[in-house]
Amino acid sequence: MRRVPSVKAMTAWARGLQREGVKIGLVPTMGALHEGHRSLIRAARLACDAVAVSIFVNPLQFGPLEDFDRYPRTLAKDLRLCEEEGTDVVFVPRAPELYPTEFETAVSVQRLTRRFEGLSRPGHFGGVTTVVAKLLNIVRPERAFFGQKDYQQAVVVERLVEDLNLDARVVVCPTVREPDGLALSSRNRFLAPEERKAATVLYRALSAGRRLIRAGERSVKRVEAAMTKLIWAEPLARLDYLAVAHPATLDEVRVVRGRVVLLLAVWIGTTRLIDNMVVSAR
Ligand code: AMP
Repeated sequence: MRRVPSVKAMTAWARGLQREGVKIGLVPTMGALHEGHRSLIRAARLACDAVAVSIFVNPLQFGPLEDFDRYPRTLAKDLRLCEEEGTDVVFVPRAPELYPTEFETAVSVQRLTRRFEGLSRPGHFGGVTTVVAKLLNIVRPERAFFGQKDYQQAVVVERLVEDLNLDARVVVCPTVREPDGLALSSRNRFLAPEERKAATVLYRALSAGRRLIRAGERSVKRVEAAMTKLIWAEPLARLDYLAVAHPATLDEVRVVRGRVVLLLAVWIGTTRLIDNMVVSAR
């Protein structure tokens, strides 16, 4: 497995393989890798001839009051996980490599980012789409792998790739969860034992919403009320947002018809967690 810190070396590696017709799969990450990331690398390994993982805690996607400084950095362990999964190259640029002092371009997706995560985290998606555009241009993978865990991000990246005619297929992989339903996240390690128990409230609320819809409830107001009640009942949890939206447009709906996505963000102490579930009205 090669570890590559520079854009130049990364580009050279990718173009070399591409000249021979090798199809590259790219898995963009911020490191602190867990089983969720592992599942993306496995999917890339299965679908592509060569796998590149990028590890970069992207300063552009953190707000000034957010957790950039405390974001976990576990490079040695991350490299072992990548190696175990048969990764061919790990791209580990430092910030000035991607953002030299003269850097001044931003890539942004408009409407889709003006809601949910975009409202709670102003500037976040601008950072995501800028770095993803750069990574896709550097590697030019045949496929790029993202997790459903970050549902809005996956929809935004699909829009970006389509709108800018980037030559990659976006593959969205299912959310990997702990046995009690908590979605794996690099931020889960911040949870104290009591908070870790409280954090199951995200999955409990999503499951309750799904149960209601499957039982025939079509009023989003009532689905949201039931989910909100569960979150309010958890003393360590504070609801940031909760929404029921169309799975492709992310427009909020008032009546459940066909498929919808339930999206939520919840603070557990000083840690902010997000999760989602796609549900079909049957
Ligand atoms: P991050 O390192 O948190 O930026 O995540 C890198 C990629 O891994 C993103 O596409 C995430 O959606 C994905 N990911 C994070 N957690 C999970 C999970 N629990 N299951 C599946 N994919 C995940």
